[in-house]
Amino acid sequence: MIQLTTAATLTNAINKARTVKPLVRVNRFGSYTVTNKATGATYTVECAKRDGKRFAHCTCKAGERGQACYHLASAVSAHMQLAAERATLNF
Ligand SMILES: [Zn+2]
Repeated sequence: MIQLTTAATLTNAINKARTVKPLVRVNRFGSYTVTNKATGATYTVECAKRDGKRFAHCTCKAGERGQACYHLASAVSAHMQLAAERATLNF
């Protein structure tokens, strides 16, 4: 689990995600399956909010070491979009 504090935490991972362009599938709100289309490697990213703090975790090797990988960055970006849509709907 890494804590998402500032956008800077994810800058490198976001840049990598822009190059790799992985496929992000929504399992449910907060759980995403990220696939590298070139290698077929698939990882699960979980996003959670606890005590007003945002956390995310990826099942890849970098993620297990607590690093912000591009799978995590891709899933977090999808998660933020979903959360924004939900916030708009739950007025
Ligand atoms: Zn990862």
